[in-house]
Amino acid sequence: MEKLQNFVNGEYCTPSTGEYIDNFEPATGKVYSLIPNSGEADVQNAVDAAEKAFPIWSEMSSVERSKILIKLSKGIEDRMDEFVQAESRDNGKPLSLAAHVDIPRAVSNFHFFATAIVHYASESHQMEGLGVNYTLRKPIGIVGCISPWNLPLYLFSWKIAPALAAGNCVIAKPSEVTPYTAYLLGKVAQEAGMPPGVLNILHGEGGAVGDAIVKHAKIKAISFTGGTNTGKYIAQTAAPMFKKLSLELGGKNPNIIFADCDFDEMLSTTLRSSFANQGQICLCGSRIFVERPIYERFKEAFVSRVSTTVVAPPNDPKAKLGAVVSKPHMEKVLSYVELAKEEGGTVLTGGERVQMDAPYNEGYYLRPTVIEGLAYDCRTNQEEIFGPVVTITPFDTEEEVLMMANSTQYGLSATLWTSNLKRAHNMANELHAGIVWVNSWLVRDLRTPFGGVKASGVGREGGWEALRFFTEAKNVFIKY
Ligand code: NAD
Repeated sequence: MEKLQNFVNGEYCTPSTGEYIDNFEPATGKVYSLIPNSGEADVQNAVDAAEKAFPIWSEMSSVERSKILIKLSKGIEDRMDEFVQAESRDNGKPLSLAAHVDIPRAVSNFHFFATAIVHYASESHQMEGLGVNYTLRKPIGIVGCISPWNLPLYLFSWKIAPALAAGNCVIAKPSEVTPYTAYLLGKVAQEAGMPPGVLNILHGEGGAVGDAIVKHAKIKAISFTGGTNTGKYIAQTAAPMFKKLSLELGGKNPNIIFADCDFDEMLSTTLRSSFANQGQICLCGSRIFVERPIYERFKEAFVSRVSTTVVAPPNDPKAKLGAVVSKPHMEKVLSYVELAKEEGGTVLTGGERVQMDAPYNEGYYLRPTVIEGLAYDCRTNQEEIFGPVVTITPFDTEEEVLMMANSTQYGLSATLWTSNLKRAHNMANELHAGIVWVNSWLVRDLRTPFGGVKASGVGREGGWEALRFFTEAKNVFIKY
């Protein structure tokens, strides 16, 4: 059985613990590789390597750092097929999704920040007759980047790329549920000429190696994407150590559909925004609110399209949905379908596991699920399910739908479908969300701020926001 390795000081190495954990293939439900179960000693080794590398990397010109990061981006692109196959196998997502979204976006993330850093300027403020302030933006030092399983390499690179571009050394930990593409990244970093110790990748459990990263005194900033409860725990640990923190957490996003929308475009996009990546994208719209005059028309058309959506093994070109990421996650999603029924909901389609033929008969396949008849404030409509399950609810007025949309503890993203421009502006302004899409979904411009409000997180990623997070500002005043 293949054993993955950590990547420390520019070399692949075994974990100090000598222990490994199982890596399951969601498509088959079988263990297909072993992941290092790293511990505190591995974090210490990575910190030692990063400390040595920091003067070299941070004092290198931004143009030189940029060249290495562009090579890294190109290195992933050159191995596109290997990365696509690995991401799909590790996560259960259709090959087509990994090929069109995950891996190309990881390539873009490295390329974007490699080029952004050479255009990054700091401010100066003149005080007439008195003097001038200029602001230096210096790398923080050693930073920790911890990412989840849903978009493994894509979200990993979204943190690592700006951290490295800004001149920091990185200790990164991918999710133990989907470690494979992060494992492959070490080789690409070597080939790109990244100096040893600049990028260190440690594998293992959140409560062990993840916790050791958060607690290490020499790791000065933590950029975390994952669940809200994990984020809360990390904040409790890191805040008293005065670490910089960026937290991208859970969501329960509304998808609000007005009767005056372009129905066909809305319908096909709503299929994607509900079930892309088996509903396991933090930006999926899991609460669909439909204006009453088109509620029945929407329900009929949507349920008909959802019930014929193909769920198949990830390597089947026909697959629109593959397998969900793990057995415990599948069980969690199914438990929410049961909860919805207890809360008075009606399952219009889906709600069950899909049984595939061998060798996929133990894979974690779920039928995409649509539920109606639930109160906006019941648990099913308030808690993050993070699977292929959506609820549909009619509404009559803007005020009513805003109240329902804003009623959860979360505030990550929202989608609006309307041809009324004034309403779109008003609603976008009032929604509790860090990101609002009007007549679209998942369109990303890498320059824009990305993140949520309320329990969906603290801070923003993307563009200059990310480069600001990964630098410390120092103001210098000089008297005339
Ligand atoms: P998770 O919180 O269980 O794990 C995320 C990462 O944190 C993993 O690498 C894990 O090993 C690590 N971790 C767990 N406990 C830790 C600890 N005590 N200390 C340090 N690290 C620890 O989340 P998940 O199940 O992997 O991902 C799903 C969640 O991520 C969902 O809630 C989803 O909404 C959220 N998410 C948010 C965004 C966003 O941009 N806001 C994007 C993707 C996913």
